[in-house]
Amino acid sequence: MPELPEVELYCRYFARYALHQRVARVRVLDERILGVRKPVLMRALVGREFTRVRRHGKHLFADTGSSWLHIHFGMSGDLASYRDDVAQPRFARVIFDFEGGGRLAYDDMRLFGVVDVTPDPDTFITEHRLGPDPLDAAFRLDVFRRIVARRRGAVKSLLLSQDIIAGMGNLYVDETLYRASIHPRRAVDKLFAAEVKAIFTGMRNILKEAIAFKSRGGDYPGRYLVQHRQEGDRCPLCDGTIQRTVVFGRTTYFCGTHQR
Ligand SMILES: [Zn+2]
Repeated sequence: MPELPEVELYCRYFARYALHQRVARVRVLDERILGVRKPVLMRALVGREFTRVRRHGKHLFADTGSSWLHIHFGMSGDLASYRDDVAQPRFARVIFDFEGGGRLAYDDMRLFGVVDVTPDPDTFITEHRLGPDPLDAAFRLDVFRRIVARRRGAVKSLLLSQDIIAGMGNLYVDETLYRASIHPRRAVDKLFAAEVKAIFTGMRNILKEAIAFKSRGGDYPGRYLVQHRQEGDRCPLCDGTIQRTVVFGRTTYFCGTHQR
């Protein structure tokens, strides 16, 4: 499932292969992927150029000058740039044909993604009640402290709530709490100031590191929890035991020794 780091890489891919080219044609191969009527999508995009791309959480937005293309990658969304039709991905749902012969396909086997247009990303973010993006420059520790200060309940539930922070998925929340040495069920209103800071910096560092690993085609190092998501596994940080539980309806792994 595409998480925030994957969507960041899709944004870079989109920037590389789709910016500053005129859209000659938009082909919708499966209308179930659209969040808007097909003629509206066509009118918004055909004859225009994408001038910039922006990510918020797991959402991609591309500016056409008058409105923005919006893509959410759902469970299995992907982008593919190609020129020759034999390279068209098997589950291409929408294809952008550019003047000059390049094509960009939005491919999605399971159809949980969405392709549509929106007047502007900020309105979209407000209307969908999305919290700040964790890597946004404006998302600083004091902003996070203010968000946390008003909340109760388990820290894991807070970090998974999209209206609190946009784009943190199950794996990355577990990884963040693992690195911050905080038990996923800890009550948010009982966290010390240093722990809130550890969550904030841990979350941002892990996402940035994941983007860097993935952009090089690599995998997470062995010290990451994601490499030990199995009950009874050894914790590489403290030699404790990895435990499994369910928090907020989500399968959760944590170290029973160093996460308090
Ligand atoms: Zn441990």
